[in-house]
Amino acid sequence: MRLSRYFLPILRDDPKEAEIVSHRLMLRAGMVRQETAGIYSWLPLGFDVLKKVEQIVREEQNRAGAIEVLMPTIQSADLWKKSGRYDDYGKEMLRITDRHDREMLYGPTNEEMITDMFRAGVQSYKDLPRNLYHIQWKFRDEIRPRFGVMRGREFLMKDAYSFDLDEKAARHSYNKMFLAYLRTYQRMGLTAVPMKADTGPIGGDLSHEFLILADTGESEVFFDRGYLEMDWQASNVDPDDVDGLQSTIDGFTSLYAATDEEHDAAQFDGRVAADRQVTGRGIEVGHIFYFGTKYSEPLGCHVQGPDGEHVAVHSGSYGVGVSRLVGAIIEASHDENGIIWPEPVAPFKVGLINLKAGDETTDTACDALYDGLRAAGVEVLYDDTDGRAGAKFGTMDLIGLPWQVIAGPRGLASGTVELKNRKTGEREEVSIESALNRLTG
Ligand code: ATP
Ligand code: MG
Repeated sequence: MRLSRYFLPILRDDPKEAEIVSHRLMLRAGMVRQETAGIYSWLPLGFDVLKKVEQIVREEQNRAGAIEVLMPTIQSADLWKKSGRYDDYGKEMLRITDRHDREMLYGPTNEEMITDMFRAGVQSYKDLPRNLYHIQWKFRDEIRPRFGVMRGREFLMKDAYSFDLDEKAARHSYNKMFLAYLRTYQRMGLTAVPMKADTGPIGGDLSHEFLILADTGESEVFFDRGYLEMDWQASNVDPDDVDGLQSTIDGFTSLYAATDEEHDAAQFDGRVAADRQVTGRGIEVGHIFYFGTKYSEPLGCHVQGPDGEHVAVHSGSYGVGVSRLVGAIIEASHDENGIIWPEPVAPFKVGLINLKAGDETTDTACDALYDGLRAAGVEVLYDDTDGRAGAKFGTMDLIGLPWQVIAGPRGLASGTVELKNRKTGEREEVSIESALNRLTG
């Protein structure tokens, strides 16, 4: 993409309304635009990252055996009346009336709809287990939308729902999602720590929130350093090995981890050596929950069991805050000059800076780099504008592409361009050919 043809509305000054770094950087880097409180448009750069985050979530859901569907944003109130949540949900739910005076709502979540969909399509225990998910916009009329996309009113969520014959099978479905979540966050360059969450009136111990460390997180977190040391991409735990997966997860979650709500200082000190204690703040980027027959009972989602009996299906739900993750990644990865994208979610891998647009040697060199990178399938943003060098450097650092290639007449006189790593700040003088080799290798 040539910057001269792109839409990148950079803000030179810090927007007053932004209280946290990700919100400030997303506005300054022209990633999003607030349309009204808690509701954002995604501009090209932000939308690109959102799609990359979404795709990683999708690939790991598919890998875990979940199947993608797409449910609408607008729902009828009927099913919510059957489950009892139409009244319980309160003011967070955006309620709408259509022209026939039918009660509708903008979905804050989809347990009712998916349970009804599954009920209509399933007959016997042989149709289990299944896990269906979608990635769709949700609306929750948050009392205090803030921090940009981190706590929006309209936000993108991946929500998966598992269906099993009994609690034991449901636990395995839960464990598969647990593993998928750890892999998902790690692929985005994040370390998420699972923390036991309150299961409310349903009870049981099957609810975890996944938090990533960031100074601006809304909860205080306390955990064992061991959580930061696992490589889930490299681990070869087989998600279909019921006992093997259970013992991997049991081993992992036996380490201490708690948010302020559940934290017990005496236990923390007793179980975790001082040099292994990590405390800080965390952002919730996912939440998984086993809720048994809470929705299948009232909505009549039964199957015929092996002995001909009718059994209510056991379910869980599994949410990932897709749009929140874009902000969360920035919270976890930035410096005083701007964003530092982990490569898997970077909007472009390379930013190419032409220091003297209009100069024949420089233009020719930049064209060779631009064409060479694109031919190799590398995403590159080419600053071909005639702006000042300082402003160009500032913009590239702000938008945080992993690599910068800087080409100007001085270096080119001796046949070199500068290759800069955004994260480490390291710079090297290299030939055009070697820049291409390094970036396409
Ligand atoms: P929170 O405690 O942050 O309000 P929640 O527990 O109400 O979140 P869930 O119902 O568990 O949220 O939703 C699943 C995921 O969706 C959350 O883990 C979070 O990452 C994301 N999410 C929830 N609410 C919002 C929001 N208002 N804006 C952006 N993402 C959100
Ligand atoms: Mg939650």
